[in-house]
Amino acid sequence: MKAKIQVVICRCCSEVPALLNTDRLAMLATDADMVVSVKSVDAVCDGKDLAGVMGEAKEKEVDRAVVLACHKRDVAPALLRAYKRAGVNEFMIKLVNLREEVVLPHQAQPERAQAKAEAMLRAALVRSVMLQPRERQTEEMRTNNVVIIGAGVSGQAAARAAAKAGAHTVILEKTGKTMKAPGVILPHSQLIGAKGWTGNYTLTIRVGEKVEELEAAAIIVATGGGWTELKGPLAKAVKDAVPLYKLHERMENNDLPKGPVVVVDTPDPAGKTLKVQDYAWDDTLETVIELKKRAPSTEAYVVFQEMRAFGLNELAYKEAADIGIRFIRYDKAGAPKVDPKAPAKLAVKDFAQGEVLSIPFGTLVFASIPPNKDNEGIADALRIPMAFDGGIRRGSIQRGPVETVRPGIYVCGSALFPKSRELAEREGEMAGSMAGEFVKTGRTSYGGSVAEVEQEKCSACLTCVRTCPYEAPFIGRASKAEIRTELCQGCGICVGICPSKAIELHHYTDDQIMGEARSLLGGDF
Ligand code: SF4
Ligand code: SF4
Repeated sequence: MKAKIQVVICRCCSEVPALLNTDRLAMLATDADMVVSVKSVDAVCDGKDLAGVMGEAKEKEVDRAVVLACHKRDVAPALLRAYKRAGVNEFMIKLVNLREEVVLPHQAQPERAQAKAEAMLRAALVRSVMLQPRERQTEEMRTNNVVIIGAGVSGQAAARAAAKAGAHTVILEKTGKTMKAPGVILPHSQLIGAKGWTGNYTLTIRVGEKVEELEAAAIIVATGGGWTELKGPLAKAVKDAVPLYKLHERMENNDLPKGPVVVVDTPDPAGKTLKVQDYAWDDTLETVIELKKRAPSTEAYVVFQEMRAFGLNELAYKEAADIGIRFIRYDKAGAPKVDPKAPAKLAVKDFAQGEVLSIPFGTLVFASIPPNKDNEGIADALRIPMAFDGGIRRGSIQRGPVETVRPGIYVCGSALFPKSRELAEREGEMAGSMAGEFVKTGRTSYGGSVAEVEQEKCSACLTCVRTCPYEAPFIGRASKAEIRTELCQGCGICVGICPSKAIELHHYTDDQIMGEARSLLGGDF
């Protein structure tokens, strides 16, 4: 049966028409083979124009669409739902990210932008003709548990938000600390393994001495920073120095520190083991101001290389200075040191005055925190990637700031990278409400764009089994590789690495990719 394509051109408010000739794009689409409908709309993402687009899709009985708009995450949910109602399979819709791939990078080159947009439209039409409908499988979630790893500020906030959305929360906390949070809190517990897939995970956890299994529909990694792993010459020289969060915690329990209190940005001012983290300054300002207000006679110093409080928190410098907190700036050449012969004094060269100061201290505090060492084992168990700096890697800072690459697994707070308490709490809330909303649906889906092995070509070499980061391939009864659809994330690694070229990724087949590439490059290869 001949394809019937609808082309939708989004003007993206005013950005696209300011640079591109959208009438020419529409004309190009109208003249193309198999295009039966061309619609120009103001903004696909606001949904206002979708009724008209879908009305025509139904009327012309289109079976596929090419949509020129912006990123999939901005337009996809509403657009895909509307096309589903119009009877168009979600895998038959080809999205072209005109805004981010054409308009934004070529603002000053309208001719190149137009040529690129036209080339992308032609290539999308070529690919569209080759697309095949695909179906996702759905199944019920076995539980409404949201399991949160870590009971710090972000973990507690995540539990509150997930519980508010109707989920049952279980917090795994490595230490024995007590806290107020909804659901179940398991002290002295750790994640040691995970099986299953989005919406239906089975976790292996250690609680005290016992190893147990725990069902989870969604998981939130809220491990916090590596508070206990302080390294560097200052941490070595002053054994009873404390991280900033500890000072904060003590003050919350009315245990005011012995003065003078000196807060240094990092225990390793040379930056060999830990870089200075600018996030820490908001918390430093808040904590020293509170300390000075509660104990006005306690001397307080803030010793830093750079200070960049966030937004209006800059105003806190003035407040701190007005109540007598002293700020000392240093550079690496004059970095703070503790002489073993005078272990209660910090020597630092004041960058502004050029003078070496010797500051006696009763309590030495470090503002920066290393990443949590547990992150690696947790990432390994959950099959999610790590970031280079030792945190858990998120999907996308713009479109999924608390999501990981695996749907249903979220990350927040200092598990991503060390950050202020306030920000950690906000991220915890966000991750908790996303996990709670996801669990509320009660159903999960998988499949669609997944890999499949052509059994006759498979030589059972195990390369895909060993390579897949999600453990989806296995050697089946016929002694050939098979793919567990529910585990496959469609990353395509196995497709590229299989020496027998036995694996195909549905929706990204060789023919589809090569057809699109040929059209884009105008090549005959
Ligand atoms: S890599 Fe290819 S040949 Fe080797 S087991 Fe997997 S599918 Fe078979
Ligand atoms: S496409 Fe990726 S996730 Fe799926 S089986 Fe291959 S390597 Fe694993």
